Amino acid sequence: MPDLKAGCLPAHPFDDDRFREECGVIGIHGVDQAAAAVALGLHALQHRGQEAAGIVSFDGAEFHVHRAMGHVAGNFDNAGVMETLTGRSAIGHNRYATTGASALRNVQPLFAELADGGFAVAHNGNLTNAMALRRELTRRGSIFQSTSDTEVIIHLVATSSQPSRLDRVIDALKEVEGAWSLVCLTPEGLIAARDPLGFRPLVLGSLGAGHVVASETVALDVMGARFVREVAPGELLLIGAAGIRSLSPFPNRRPRPCIFEFVYFSRPDSIADGLSIYEVRKRIGAELAREAPVAADMVVPVPDSGTPAAIGFAQAAGIPFELGIIRSHYVGRTFIQPGDNIRHLGVKLKHNANRALIAGKRLVLIDDSVVRGTTSVKIVHMLREAGASQVHLRVASPPTTHSCFYGVDTPVRSKLLAANMDEAHMRDFIGVDSLAFISIDGLYRALEEPGRATRCPTHCDACFTGDYPTRLTDQEHGTADLYNLIAAQ
Ligand code: SF4
Repeated sequence: MPDLKAGCLPAHPFDDDRFREECGVIGIHGVDQAAAAVALGLHALQHRGQEAAGIVSFDGAEFHVHRAMGHVAGNFDNAGVMETLTGRSAIGHNRYATTGASALRNVQPLFAELADGGFAVAHNGNLTNAMALRRELTRRGSIFQSTSDTEVIIHLVATSSQPSRLDRVIDALKEVEGAWSLVCLTPEGLIAARDPLGFRPLVLGSLGAGHVVASETVALDVMGARFVREVAPGELLLIGAAGIRSLSPFPNRRPRPCIFEFVYFSRPDSIADGLSIYEVRKRIGAELAREAPVAADMVVPVPDSGTPAAIGFAQAAGIPFELGIIRSHYVGRTFIQPGDNIRHLGVKLKHNANRALIAGKRLVLIDDSVVRGTTSVKIVHMLREAGASQVHLRVASPPTTHSCFYGVDTPVRSKLLAANMDEAHMRDFIGVDSLAFISIDGLYRALEEPGRATRCPTHCDACFTGDYPTRLTDQEHGTADLYNLIAAQ
């Protein structure tokens, strides 16, 4: 099977051994200086995409657009830029590149002047039939400006024969498959929608008399907005002068939100499905301690993402939690580019062993996931060099055996360690004394859900099971190859 992400380069030279969430979105309506509030929200969602950021605002007459490569701070902590983004409604987007090459033309929100006015869209997720639709739209005369799958939505809206703009948006979204949590800005107001399976999160909040939609609750917190509720899978909200209108125009499906949001993607201080992400991660650690106990002197997280699970493991196992690895927060991607000859030192720049603490000690090392395994090898080597007498790796997710096609940047399947080795071989490859992953049912228990063995799965867990909950049209039809050709342009 050709892999959709095969043409993508790692966005960060030290982070190509992680699944990376692709995007964060935010939309605000009915708030003075809406773009400033969107910029604050994008700051809080920076972990969901660090390659580029953009904001589109609407002042009642005109749309204003600013999109740039780089972090939110660099793009929007500039009074000159913010003064141009006037109006009481705005949408914003943080991005990693997965579909579409890493270029300014792909930075979202995408904006187009359609026959009946401006239309901007910011999308979190990945459309699994984007290339098939693109091929058909191009055949009918559409001219694409970007290589992003999201642009398909704009062309579908533009070419829909439905009478109203809202109907045209609904018509377009009925055509697309896969994952889409999105916000659209139109002259009539804000449209927010979540695909029927609810792969990616989307929450609704209120800010004074205005309304906010965002990928995670942390974006509401930072601007002082009040959490109202989640946008339900399959729900579409029209937020305008008349308030909020909720529609359910899409076929009813059993929701399958991404389980990896709980393991790694979402910020630990966010709330999703009524659950604290931080508490879920602690419960994952506790489950792991019960499933794979080990005699050790201390529990050490791979910071920062392994920390909550390590706390849960330590508490359940009665083993002291210690910061045996210290992370530098000041290693930026601009410091070393992938081609630099000291790139191999990347792990040491980012993580350093707390030598005085761990020398002679038996460690339980907790990481959120093992993807390629290359970072694990380097970290374990670093701990042994620093004098650890034993290193036992416990992983807070099941073995990652499949790629994601729903908006997460993943290596090709052939590069996934667990797709190529059994646990014993992975243990030897990484160089640990013992290795264990949480079971898929243990992960569901941490979410307070019945496991796969007792009930149909309540989440997407395809990267652990291969059970993809939608069609993968571009993969099935070979049109995913088209992406690689386009991305190379
Ligand atoms: Fe999440 Fe994995 Fe499903 Fe992708 S395949 S949506 S990362 S659970």
